[in-house]
Amino acid sequence: MYRSGAVMAWNVFKFCAALRGLGSIMILVVLGVVGVTYYAVVVCNYAPALVDGDLDSLIAVAVLILFHSLLVMLLWSYFSVVFTDPGSVPPNWRPELDEERGDTDPLTESEFGTASSDPVNLRVRYCRKCNQFKPPRCHHCSVCGRCVLKMDHHCVWVVNCVGALNYKYFLLFLFYTFLETSLATLALLPHFVAFFSDGEIAGTPGNLATTFLAFVLNLAFALSVLGFLIMHISLVAANTTTIEAYEKKTTPKWRYDLGRKRNLEQVFGLDRRYWFIPTYSEEDVRRMPALQGLEYPSKPDFDAQEF
Ligand SMILES: [Zn+2]
Ligand SMILES: [Zn+2]
Repeated sequence: MYRSGAVMAWNVFKFCAALRGLGSIMILVVLGVVGVTYYAVVVCNYAPALVDGDLDSLIAVAVLILFHSLLVMLLWSYFSVVFTDPGSVPPNWRPELDEERGDTDPLTESEFGTASSDPVNLRVRYCRKCNQFKPPRCHHCSVCGRCVLKMDHHCVWVVNCVGALNYKYFLLFLFYTFLETSLATLALLPHFVAFFSDGEIAGTPGNLATTFLAFVLNLAFALSVLGFLIMHISLVAANTTTIEAYEKKTTPKWRYDLGRKRNLEQVFGLDRRYWFIPTYSEEDVRRMPALQGLEYPSKPDFDAQEF
């Protein structure tokens, strides 16, 4: 799905063109799901419950506060992924050729643009489509038509590549989407169950249909996002990207694996106050090369660094 073989090239080209064509429609789909959910949870069910009095009102206040807070974080993360450049290779970027032998990138085998018998040049990764050198962990995206730093995957939901500079925002988007869709599912559950009970149910047919639709959508999203979230947490814990996880199977020792805690910091930053919001502290951006996407600390040289 992510990499094209020669035989598949034409099909993949069609696939990529289709993805490009889909473009911003996906943003409307996301906003549509958010809109339906908002209407079902807030307008149809919990805002009216505010005037019920007693426990119902208290529950409604709690649900509404939590729902709106998560919605703000979800949309903030979402538009951060959509509008943040995942990272492109600076023009005239050249690899340093005097690196030690230990720095060989294990992914180079499939990526030699300039195959040579010279052992120094063997480490050079080159993109023939962009006609430029590739920094470590950089991959060419056929949908974007350019090289993306520490590319993870091209995400249709955010109409953007997920790479070095917006991966954290993508993870937070997954995280808040999971929380928000779970909350919506639980909040709508009693109203959904009411459909199948024998008694009279209150509400207009429109409200009932929206509630039904929103419940099914949110349950489906909560379950599928949970799977994605678990996969990405294990990727972050091992300091790999989705692409690298596919290619890494032949590499027993992963050079970027710095231990779970440090792997996490390489994506979320050192400043914990910024872990749950889609941005980094200025200091982190300055002191952490991984957040600029061109160099990554690896096992042998990590201990030599200050942090
Ligand atoms: Zn490229
Ligand atoms: Zn892309």
